[in-house]
Amino acid sequence: MPSTYSSEWNIPTDVFVYNDPSAKTLVIEEIASHIRGLFPGMRVEVRGDFVSHHYHGSTEELAERIARTKVRNISDPFESFDPLLGEIRFEERLLERPESGISGVLYDAARLHLVLREMIPEEELSLRAVHAAFTSRLFGTFDDADRRYHARVILCGYPSIISTSGIVEAPAKPREYYLMREKLRALGEDVPAEVLKEQIQGRFLDYDDPRLTDVMKGYSLQALFYAITHEPFCEDPECRLYNSHWQEEVLASQLGDKEFCDEHASLIRWISDR
Ligand SMILES: [Zn+2]
Repeated sequence: MPSTYSSEWNIPTDVFVYNDPSAKTLVIEEIASHIRGLFPGMRVEVRGDFVSHHYHGSTEELAERIARTKVRNISDPFESFDPLLGEIRFEERLLERPESGISGVLYDAARLHLVLREMIPEEELSLRAVHAAFTSRLFGTFDDADRRYHARVILCGYPSIISTSGIVEAPAKPREYYLMREKLRALGEDVPAEVLKEQIQGRFLDYDDPRLTDVMKGYSLQALFYAITHEPFCEDPECRLYNSHWQEEVLASQLGDKEFCDEHASLIRWISDR
């Protein structure tokens, strides 16, 4: 977290927020208004889903490029492969009907990001423009420490991509959830996830969660802070910029009484008063 204001910071003039039409409880207008409220000097524009907005080429070609970013095995580093015809068709259907969403596929974050980045027209690929693109696609990065892929909620860059399935799948659920699952497995019982989820109700974000929009306000600000200071995250667990690894941290940092730590609150005031 920056301790002094820096002349190297970049204050964007335009923020483009892209909808994920498959996320029924994501109210994109509300996210845009939240940014406008904090940064009245920025022009915030709401757009449809990122791909439909920017891509006008062949769906089949794009489907293949996206299929190539799929993670085949979560315990191996990324390996390129030729996608099967069925996988390409699957992506085509998703591209044609972005409102259908959730696919149960994991994509390599950096490679998926590259495919999307190429779609931004030159005049909008500027440090002055922030692109915060919500997507239903689940993406992850490979961690050398434990040799496996981990799903992520956000990948910052141009564009920053924020996953509406990542917010459900990436942060860990309360410990009891996993303990309970282990215990039942040891007993040879295969209990459906829905039953386990009931035990921790309210303590994690689920699909179509009514709290999704409020939670995602914080993630869109992480995208914005990445553009401003290159540091999207904060160490204060009560600040919306906190990099949560647990579901309960997500809820505490995004829905708690305090929106920002003192430092980020004054930084936001400083930017909006400029
Ligand atoms: Zn903070």
